[in-house]
Amino acid sequence: MSMAIIASPMAAKHLPANPASQAASLLLATGARQTRARVEVLAALLRAGEALTHNEVERRLRRGHDVDRVTLYRVLEWLTEQGLAHKVSGGDRVWRFSAAGHARAPGGGHAHFECSCCGKVICLDEARLPSIPLPAGYRRRDIDVTVRGRCDQCPA
Ligand SMILES: [Zn+2]
Ligand SMILES: [Zn+2]
Repeated sequence: MSMAIIASPMAAKHLPANPASQAASLLLATGARQTRARVEVLAALLRAGEALTHNEVERRLRRGHDVDRVTLYRVLEWLTEQGLAHKVSGGDRVWRFSAAGHARAPGGGHAHFECSCCGKVICLDEARLPSIPLPAGYRRRDIDVTVRGRCDQCPA
């Protein structure tokens, strides 16, 4: 395995606003091969602004940029391994992928919000995670904090 240079969140701030070129720049920074599928899937996640299931990514790609299911699964796992995306499980236990937030930190390193009405999951990048004291000898691996409620698109 070669050493990959991962784009830091600092660098991400200077990236172009267009999700496709932003995706291309982030992939370039990993030093890995840029495939059309990688660019398209990452661009779809960046564009979404919320965490997407495999199916949701697939649906968003279909508009002119179809990627077969197996490739899509592989690309999403690869993006996660590269720290360009992270996984978050919703109340339905289905994995969702997000390119937002502090992607590389274990467990996303940030809290999430899940809408109980439409099922949308977003990264709460600004929220500080609580430090929870553990019994002596216990070690934290990651932390999963999800706030549940209603999003701004759902009727009160
Ligand atoms: Zn909602
Ligand atoms: Zn997140």
